[in-house]
Order: sequence, then C-alpha cells, then structure tokens
Amino acid sequence: MKRVLIKNGWLIPMAGAEEVVVDGAVAFDNGRITYVGKSRDFDAAKFKPDTVVDARGKAILPGLVNTHTHLVGAYIKAITEDVRGPAGSGLFKRALPLQVRHVKREDMYWGGMVHAMEMVMTGTTTINETWWHQKELAPVVRDIGLRAVISEMVVETDLSEIRPDVPERRWNRGLFEQGYEAAIELYEEWEGKENGRITTRIAPGGPGYVSDAGLVRCRDLAEKQGVGLHIHFAEIPGETEFMLHRYSKRPVALMRDLGMLGQHVIGIHCVFLDDDDIQIMAETGTKFSHTAFHVPKRGYFPPMPKVYKAGIDVSLGSDWCSNDLWNFMRAAILIPRVLTGDVGAMSGYDALRMATMGGARCLGLEKEIGSLEIGKKADIILVDMTRPSCNPIRLENICTNLVYNANGSDVTHVFVDGRLVVEDREMKTVDRHAMLREAQSRAERIWGEAFKGVS
Ligand SMILES: [Zn+2]
Repeated sequence: MKRVLIKNGWLIPMAGAEEVVVDGAVAFDNGRITYVGKSRDFDAAKFKPDTVVDARGKAILPGLVNTHTHLVGAYIKAITEDVRGPAGSGLFKRALPLQVRHVKREDMYWGGMVHAMEMVMTGTTTINETWWHQKELAPVVRDIGLRAVISEMVVETDLSEIRPDVPERRWNRGLFEQGYEAAIELYEEWEGKENGRITTRIAPGGPGYVSDAGLVRCRDLAEKQGVGLHIHFAEIPGETEFMLHRYSKRPVALMRDLGMLGQHVIGIHCVFLDDDDIQIMAETGTKFSHTAFHVPKRGYFPPMPKVYKAGIDVSLGSDWCSNDLWNFMRAAILIPRVLTGDVGAMSGYDALRMATMGGARCLGLEKEIGSLEIGKKADIILVDMTRPSCNPIRLENICTNLVYNANGSDVTHVFVDGRLVVEDREMKTVDRHAMLREAQSRAERIWGEAFKGVS
C-alpha cells in the first residue's frame, strides 16, 4: 500500500489555528503526505491511489505523540494504583520492587506488546520510551509498527531500595556500567532503523538514580552520539530532600550546573518544581513531559499554570499502566481547574495540540510529525464520531467535543509512516490475542512470585 487516499472526513490538521475541513481528505505516497484539503478538490484520477479509505463520520487527525513511556509497565497494571499510604506508596511499595526483582529480561517483550498495542489502538503513533533491557523492547516497536525514540534507562542504584524518607542513595558502579554499555549498543543497533522510524536517546534515570559523575558521562555520551537526553527529575517524594542533602542543590539546579538542560533534553514528570526551577527550565528551553493522568494516582501534580505561563514546551507522557492519551488530555485540563479554580486556562484544542504538535516539538520532530501538512510523515488516525458520546456535532467546537467525549476506543484506523497498523479497531501487524495470552501467563508468574505470602 504505497499511495493512499483518506476522504470524506472531518479533517483537523492541527497545523496552526483551530481549523476543521468539512469533507476533508489526506493523500500520501510512500509514507509522505502529498495532499491535505477538500475531498472534492483532489484529483484522484491523477493520483491513482492503491487504497481509498472512506472516513465518513470520522475525524481525521495527526497521530498522538506520547513523550514518556515504560512499555514494560503492563506488569504493574492495577496493582499499584490503590496502594494505601502517603503519596507515592504504590511506586515505592509495589512498582519498583516488582520491576526490579521479578520482571526478567525475557518478560520484557510480552509486557511491552500489551502496552504498545494499547497505545497504538488508542491513537498514539509516536512514543518516547525508556527502561532497562531496551534491546528486548526495541523489537516491540519494530514489530508493532510504532514510531519510537528508545533509550536505555541507566541507573546507578537499586531502585527497589529507595525510600522517600531516607535522603541517601547507595551507588552501584557496576549497575551503571551495565546500563551505559547497553546504551551504546542500543544506539549502534537501532539508531535510524526501520526507515528512520526508530531513533535513540540517552536516558540517565535521573539525578535521584545516578551520581553526578554518572550524569556527566551520560551527557557526554549523548553529545558524542548527537542525540537528546530523556530524564526523570523533580519526580518523586524525597528526591529534592536527597539532592539538598547530597549536593545542597535542588534537582533542576543540579541538572543546569551539570550542563544537562536545553532544547535537546526532555524532563519527565517535573512535579516538585519551585518558581526558580520553572524559570531555569524556561530559560534553557528544556522540554517537559507532563504525565497528567499518571501522577495524580500517586497523590501529586505539577504547578502547571506557572509552567505554561513561563512558556515551557509541554507534551503528554503516560509513564505506565494506562496509556490512552485521551485520558491524559482530560486530566491536563481538569486537575489544574480543581487546584486553581480557573476554568479558562486550557481548552480542548490546547490539550489536543499538546498531544500532537506539543509532543512533536518536545522530541525535536516537529518538521516530520505532529500535524497533517504536505511533506510530513503519514502518521494519521481516524476517530469515529458517530457514537452518541460525540453527538450532536457543532463544527466550531469539534476539538472540544473530541477531547471531552471521545476515547481511545473510538480510534478506528491508525497509519504510521504510511503503513496501516490498526484497521477497524484491530491490530493489523501482530496477533493481539496471542500477545495478550502470553503476557497474561507471564504476569501471573510475576505476581505469584511478588505476592507470595501476601494477602
Ligand atoms: Zn518514568
């Protein structure tokens, strides 16, 4: 399928101002968009499409961009969200011990498949992925057909030992070297692979997980490879206290002083920010992955109105467990409203833009993806609007309607790099049921080990 025409839909290009083209069409040839406009103005006889997709009753949108994922997080789904206790209890008591002790290298691919299928079936076409054993996860994005920036998460301490009330870390040099070598191998094996669909970054886990000397080595490696950085910081309870105890600096100040902020850097979570931190991120052009539907489960939320006001580029990241970005768009709008009482700060269109062009900008991919424009990659989704939830439809408010009322399950077709990955709500590239079965059996083994003797 090289030449494809999608026609008769409500075309929402997300290319600038809020705009919808009624009876809209998109055509692409060999993975690049060649036409965006009215169906009736398109010369189909000249284009000679191999495939025509009728998008009647559907919105045609650019694919969503998820700027922070852990594919392997499927194995902690629903066992961390409701753990009782102070903020972050699910993370410290369940998620990290389980991932460190019980999820083996050979489990990665199958858990990764579950998350990756969820992502693509709900409209995500690009992910920014990190965790350890990334060599096992790169084949997931290859086999599914996602666009992905992958990075080995380099850590220098046993994450299962971290306690929010203990401002210390035991550095483990061997662990660091293992991750550092894996990051080099990942770059050599995967950078630019699959027609450029897979690229790499360097991901020191964060200043709470890697010593300052280790962070500098990661910075230098990224510079040598000419790739960006992907880093958790100001992320969890106790991290700032650890930084102050160890370095007499907050996480953002340390990152700045180590030369680890800038336009090529995406900061993850960035919850525990003060006004100076926000100013530093804005001045350095550091990008922000806002995990809006994830961090509230842990009991906290970043100071988003101040982040937006400072002009920082913000995108949406899912982290793990739930990866339907439509939930993240709604959380990004609603939670600050509750916290501030200000209803006008963000609209449905703003949230949709954050999930598309915002993500592309934060990954430095804004010339290739994030909007439907001639010359860009054909990462395109169709969203069914014939269900009662989106009706009646007022065109002037179509983005607001989609963001408040559509769900990932309304996404019917997904093209990535011009390839049809999801058709009529079903995976085209892998056997969904076989993947789910294998992941289920591995999850049961992992949970059996993790919860032995625990009621
Ligand atoms: Zn994360």
